[in-house]
Amino acid sequence: MPDNILLKPFSTPFETIPFTEIKNSDFLPAIKEAISIAKTRVEKIKANKEDPNFENVVEALEALSPELDLVSTTFFNLHGAESNDEIRNLAKEISPLITEFSNDVSLDAGLFQKTKAVWNKKETLNLNAEQMMLLEKSYKSFVRSGANLNPEQKERFREISKKLSTLSLHFSDNVLKESQKFLLVVDKIEDLKGIPADSIEAAASCASEKNHAGKWVFTLDYPSLMAVLTYADKRELREKIYMANSTKAFKGDELDNKKNVQEITALRHERAALLGYKTHADFVLEERMASKPGNVTSFLNNLLDHALPAAKRETDEIKSYAKKLGLEGEFQKWDYAYYAEKLKMEKFQVDDEMLKPYFKLENVVEGVFKVAHKLYGLNFKKRNDIPVYHPDVTAYEVVNEKGELVSVFYQDYFPRPGKRNGAWMTSFRGQKIVNGKNIRPHVSIVCNFTKPTSTKPSLLTFSEVTTLFHEFGHALHGMLANTTYESLSGTNVFWDFVELPSQVLENWAYEKECLDLFAEHYETKEKIPADLMKKIKDSANFHEGRNTLRQLSFAMLDMAWHSGDPSHVTDFEKFEKEQVAKTDLLPTVKGTSISAAFSHIFAGGYSAGYYSYKWAEVLDADAFEFFKTSGIFNREVAKKFHDTVLSKGGSIHPMKLYTEFRGKEPSPDALLRRSGLVEQ
Ligand SMILES: [Zn+2]
Repeated sequence: MPDNILLKPFSTPFETIPFTEIKNSDFLPAIKEAISIAKTRVEKIKANKEDPNFENVVEALEALSPELDLVSTTFFNLHGAESNDEIRNLAKEISPLITEFSNDVSLDAGLFQKTKAVWNKKETLNLNAEQMMLLEKSYKSFVRSGANLNPEQKERFREISKKLSTLSLHFSDNVLKESQKFLLVVDKIEDLKGIPADSIEAAASCASEKNHAGKWVFTLDYPSLMAVLTYADKRELREKIYMANSTKAFKGDELDNKKNVQEITALRHERAALLGYKTHADFVLEERMASKPGNVTSFLNNLLDHALPAAKRETDEIKSYAKKLGLEGEFQKWDYAYYAEKLKMEKFQVDDEMLKPYFKLENVVEGVFKVAHKLYGLNFKKRNDIPVYHPDVTAYEVVNEKGELVSVFYQDYFPRPGKRNGAWMTSFRGQKIVNGKNIRPHVSIVCNFTKPTSTKPSLLTFSEVTTLFHEFGHALHGMLANTTYESLSGTNVFWDFVELPSQVLENWAYEKECLDLFAEHYETKEKIPADLMKKIKDSANFHEGRNTLRQLSFAMLDMAWHSGDPSHVTDFEKFEKEQVAKTDLLPTVKGTSISAAFSHIFAGGYSAGYYSYKWAEVLDADAFEFFKTSGIFNREVAKKFHDTVLSKGGSIHPMKLYTEFRGKEPSPDALLRRSGLVEQ
């Protein structure tokens, strides 16, 4: 038996990670040992003289590295939530080891031949749906990494992959350098009229940092950029920062990204062709709920048809509003956010400070627990004997109505040094069935909410409330998982399906029946007033036509680059302007570009995938409407959602799961109604 603490069975409650006993120095040796254990298994699979079958190849591959999974998951969860220099340095050693091991496996010709042999006789194996999915996933992941190519093609495939990763880095470097290069320096305080005091303060301290002490400096970082675009009365400032932001990496100098975009899209196209796909989008979408580029295109066009009339009305409204307030000359792109904010305040008069007293953190947490109880019969028992990695973290035992263990649930809500920004759900242990035993998951949510002080509890803004519901929705997907194989369990689903459980739960936060369970003023105990809630709901739809158009323009541009042969693009700027023409209702600004700084698709993982933001909204609105028509706490609908979606993970194709839940394929009508783009 290994003597590394991370590799020995844990003697903690529910075999949870013994955080208090683990030292940082335990990780690297544990990773190395876990990799060598997994490598022994690889050799064993390859050396097996029996005919390749589902058990001795596909299931054996599935069970290749549970030790490595556990140690690396633990390590990277801490890396995100409770990091320090030691952990960050360790990550530089650990990451390459893991990447190397997983490349070794996916490029192993012997493993592929065995998997292929099983795949070729799949019809004769009598596999159930989940087993078939596991086989398909395993076979395809080999094929998609080039395992089926001849030696010459394999060489080219490797070259393309290497070039693509260099080009992506180059692309994002250029965007970053361009962002850092630009400073909007303001000398006179009177030029800052309209900008909120805390943004002005931030600009003053930014000025001191950047050797402009006594002045104010705004940058292209999101909060700084938005402060100017949304609030600066001085139009010239808005124009300057808008232009700087929209011409990033598009000035024809050494930081220009045009060539990078053209090379990246050309190489992606070539790689897809090598693997036998028509375009890069066909390659990507094969493993998405949307399946085909044509489906995405018609999905986007349908939304466009509905959003366009509303967006036109909104644009007319904002233009005449601006004129009324004295705007001279033509209404420009750098005017929109500014006048929209003013109009919104005039219409709704609702802001964060009015709502916060009703959303004490403890109450909101109590609220999501009640929702989980009413929908799925879950009960949360706090357990002080489960070890945690920081005193702010709390742990729960989650049981069902029969008192059976469903999951362990950790929550970690406050910012601190060593925790990254944002909010996310993660797991320390996935769910699976081994030798008939159902191993229950250990799920966690991590957020960055305002910490309580000695005089004031933690009070959430409404957007933080929806964030908590969102992450808790992901957590339910993890907690209620019930499949045989871990790689198909819980949130291991197609990429454009993973946000359904999270986004759908956000809808409950807008419902009075749900808010009445927990939203009371932390001092007066008064329930949240109904008219305040109505304002939140109404203001959420403010200028939704225009917002939709904006998202569509990104998604359509993404599809345009990736669902055709990019060598046809000879004039970069003309190509882009043509693609966004349908979604652009304001005067074109020459010399600007979206593509040149579109890091999501050229440096991140969103290529042929930007549509999934809207896709997920369509799913969640459509699913919630089904709940709503039967009552938001209807147990029958909840059971159906549990049985068809939450418990099934990625064991069945998402379109099939969704259709079973809803009785039909998803339709955008519910989203259009919810966002006020069609008559209610
Ligand atoms: Zn999410």
